[in-house]
Amino acid sequence: MSPDRPNAPSEQTIAVGVDIGATAIKAAPVTLRGELLESFHQPSPRTPAALRDFVHSVLKQANAPVRGVGIGCKGVIDPATSRVNSLPGDLHFLEGRLLTDVIDPGDLPVYADNDARTALIAEVLWGAARGKRNVVLLTLGTGVGGAVLVDGAILRGASGAAGHLGHVTLDLHGGLCICGNFGCVETRFSSRAIESDYQAHLHRAAPTKLSLGKAGQPPTTEAIFRAAAEGDESARCVLDRALEYLTAAMVSFLHIFDPEVLILGGNIAEAGPQLLAPIRDEVARRTRILLGREVPIVFQSLVGYGGVAGAAGLVFLQQGLLKI
Ligand SMILES: [Zn+2]
Repeated sequence: MSPDRPNAPSEQTIAVGVDIGATAIKAAPVTLRGELLESFHQPSPRTPAALRDFVHSVLKQANAPVRGVGIGCKGVIDPATSRVNSLPGDLHFLEGRLLTDVIDPGDLPVYADNDARTALIAEVLWGAARGKRNVVLLTLGTGVGGAVLVDGAILRGASGAAGHLGHVTLDLHGGLCICGNFGCVETRFSSRAIESDYQAHLHRAAPTKLSLGKAGQPPTTEAIFRAAAEGDESARCVLDRALEYLTAAMVSFLHIFDPEVLILGGNIAEAGPQLLAPIRDEVARRTRILLGREVPIVFQSLVGYGGVAGAAGLVFLQQGLLKI
């Protein structure tokens, strides 16, 4: 391609990716190869002005012409308009707003989508699912997020809510979920579920090695995994039960979507083999008849700034500079 065509993609073609999380916001100028030229982060904004100022400060520091701003955000986002349709919690101030208007980057286009989807885009363009056309990604954290690539297209649904895999009913008689349903996946397997189950063990004076914090808070999921490895009976029992539910959920997702690969991300995925080793064979055993093969279950490869890279990837995909 000729260097005198200013709009032609080149090694210098960049987009700014932004990942708005519940506790931190991250951003970076990203190249077509998925390389982050620099990275920026700060605590999550609590006002639209703080969000706008952060993105503008990143845009000012980008050294090459920027093709657009891509945003991954929690909640239900309409990618056609960048409207935040539903966003409970600390980022609720963005609900009902158009992210294009909030960020107001002049002539630059803004593209936005749910953060699990931008994480999926990063894995498909540059990571663990490169070149794949059918992929399921689960983010295992405080809650459980999901994103799905079906025959090369991101599953979005009629209102943009499709792929909320954490809100599939897993327990008919289960407890109330944040979404209003009962017995969802994330009421059985999530940091929230694991920590409250361990807390119940503490209340019932079961044998435990961990104790409540000074403010009465339960031990973290990370600590519970560590305690289980060190022989804490309650931690082992809580995790075994949670992993049974995760296994059942994963089997269902494989049967529904028949993906080439299932990717696990989120904080709990950092437990690595301790998470996967007890369930991998069981998932394979229960899916082999219908699928006729063992579907690889792998960890997200672009950890930390994957959502940022994927948000920039959204810009490249929307502008036809990259294809899935
Ligand atoms: Zn739910």
